[in-house]
Amino acid sequence: MRRKDFLKTGGLLIASSLFNNCRGKVKKEKEYETGKGSLKVSTIIYELQLRQAWTLSRGTWNTRRNVLVRLEKDGIVAYGESAPIPRYNESAESNREFIHRALPVLEKDLWEYQDRWRELESLSPGQNAAKAALDMAILDWVGKSLRIPLYRFFGLDRNRTLPTTFSIGIDTVEIMQKTAESAPAFRRLKIKAGVADDKKHIEGLRQVTDRPLVVDANEGWKDRQQALEMINWMAERGVEFVEQPMPADNLEDHRWLKERVKIPIIADESVHKIQDVPALASAFHGLNIKLMKCGGLQEALRLAAVARAHDLKLMIGCMIESSLAIAAAATLTPLFDYADLDGNILINNDPFRGLTLEGDRWLLPDKPGLGVEPVIPEW
Ligand SMILES: [Mg+2]
Repeated sequence: MRRKDFLKTGGLLIASSLFNNCRGKVKKEKEYETGKGSLKVSTIIYELQLRQAWTLSRGTWNTRRNVLVRLEKDGIVAYGESAPIPRYNESAESNREFIHRALPVLEKDLWEYQDRWRELESLSPGQNAAKAALDMAILDWVGKSLRIPLYRFFGLDRNRTLPTTFSIGIDTVEIMQKTAESAPAFRRLKIKAGVADDKKHIEGLRQVTDRPLVVDANEGWKDRQQALEMINWMAERGVEFVEQPMPADNLEDHRWLKERVKIPIIADESVHKIQDVPALASAFHGLNIKLMKCGGLQEALRLAAVARAHDLKLMIGCMIESSLAIAAAATLTPLFDYADLDGNILINNDPFRGLTLEGDRWLLPDKPGLGVEPVIPEW
């Protein structure tokens, strides 16, 4: 059915309302109900509030706006989340627009989830965070319909989830030191870099901790000589690997770097789709796969399989996300070497509950689907 016909016959309901809850303002933007079957889909743009300003080499944020999706079909309620990535021309609005455009796909049989994903992918290129939200909701729905947790659906052992790193954004040395000291349970810290004071930050952190560090330059080093010098300097200070040293498109200089560095380099911003993997394998030692970048759980699994075939190390990462999307990614960690899934720890108004930390490892809920539930009133 075309979108115009869908809107005509679907009984479009716009219920725009503002309400407050104890965790901050939530804008409930629109609700759509279809007249067909028992499908109801609603979306909320939810403002996640960061505990402290979040600075990377490309900017500073105090809040992030994610889209939460509620999908109800045949009496089963499932959830998905998108964390739009501005670097790839995504916003909460563009993600939500994609989700609403995808309603005819959701009207079809959700048990055929692989076909549904291909149909979402063919709706338009990009908007991968929105595709991830829908893929998440569909698989949450499948797990709940089968009454099994999603880790069981994927055949994974919930006792083998990986410890997550804890991320420290770029700040003054003193604040970075305090942040490191505030998270003693995390055995590995991830330090954001790619700015002029990188060495000062690492030296400052080494005064307060001897834990292994991993460094994420977020494309911040512009020159391969600079990147090589920084990485090998860091290797001597207990840094285990460095993520995305230089701009994503510059595979040639990453290839040059790969032959010379003392510790592995991991691609992040360079990674999107399966088709990217062969070229990336020549330029990096591993990949950071994120649901929001690749378009969801199904695509992350395919990407991981192809990356393994190219002998690459695998890391699963996240954006600033609630416990919902973190639970989805944590489900897959038994298939990975490293996990960087701390987006929900960095916020103070998590709209979902049910995922708990044991030390630095996520305990997957033993409930059907993703096993987390919303704490947003009236949703
Ligand atoms: Mg990164």
